Amino acid sequence: MEKIVITYSDKYLNYNFGPNHPFKPYREAKLMELLRQHGLVGTYVDVQEPAPATDEELLLVHTKEYVDYVKRASIDGFGYLDYGDTPAFKDAHEAAAVRVGGTLLAARLVYEGRYLHGFNPGGGFHHARPSEAAGFCIYNDIAIAVRWLRNRGVRRVAIVDVDVHHADGTQEVFNSEDVLLISTHGYDGRFYPGTGWIDEDGVGAGKGLKVNIPLPPGTGDDVYFMVIDEVIKPVLERYRPEFLVLQFGVDAHAGDELGVLNLTTHSYMKVLDLVHKVAHEYASGRLVMTGGGGYDVWNTVKTWFLAVIQLVNPGDLSRYSFLMDPEPTQTPLRHYEEALYVIDALKGRLGL
Ligand SMILES: [Zn+2]
Ligand SMILES: [Zn+2]
Repeated sequence: MEKIVITYSDKYLNYNFGPNHPFKPYREAKLMELLRQHGLVGTYVDVQEPAPATDEELLLVHTKEYVDYVKRASIDGFGYLDYGDTPAFKDAHEAAAVRVGGTLLAARLVYEGRYLHGFNPGGGFHHARPSEAAGFCIYNDIAIAVRWLRNRGVRRVAIVDVDVHHADGTQEVFNSEDVLLISTHGYDGRFYPGTGWIDEDGVGAGKGLKVNIPLPPGTGDDVYFMVIDEVIKPVLERYRPEFLVLQFGVDAHAGDELGVLNLTTHSYMKVLDLVHKVAHEYASGRLVMTGGGGYDVWNTVKTWFLAVIQLVNPGDLSRYSFLMDPEPTQTPLRHYEEALYVIDALKGRLGL
């Protein structure tokens, strides 16, 4: 049994784009409720409340102009922070900053050795760029936490991002640095944000360390298992990370209303199992997990719950089999061929 820290604040609920927006800010509160109901809080799980990230912390990644712009938009709360996906709302700056604070706190507690694993279900805003909001993301908590770690001498940080959308903002921040970023995502040339083909592999010191795995719509667990075994695993082992960050967005789940992939809890548990093992093998256990997308609230909450069980006591997972999706899914034949092409092309490029 291992104890993990979850960073959570009721202030996460303030990250609210309104009742008709697909992002549901109460997902994290539901997760905490479920963990309490099952007696996990205080036994396996410590909960710590984050403070909002300071301006200095936000400026590790974002420009002063952009942070000032968000603050101004937070006063009136009208209009959009980007081109139409991310509405401004009153006190948006404060609501986004506390979610960043959650990821920073988890990273700090793990960095200081107080816990091996931390989880901020309220984090994972991988589309936010240094000077721009995008795709429901205001501040890029992952990039900020990784920058914070790198500034303290943790050089080899691996980010694995399993959200259905390409981790474009995180990629932009670290494109020319030796941070490993592996992003699996739905891709058909149109699906948001439209980037993340295999040829986006970094520049300079980052060359070859941005590993994009674009998967055709309908991709199921059968293909995703191959991606985990044949690409993600060898790439992580070759890099030998000192610290791992896992963006665990559940919008690649079959039941998601915005996603295009057809994954189930089986893929999510398998990729977490790999990242967890790599963390213990190479990084003295140091792993920070965040949430991310996930627009079907129940699928998201149950998958995060199972992830917590898997981290603290995998032997207990069988007790929660009623939360697992019944069978791994199969990719339809026409997309299967396409997916194999992507995997083979990627292995060729990476020399695997
Ligand atoms: Zn997403
Ligand atoms: Zn562990």
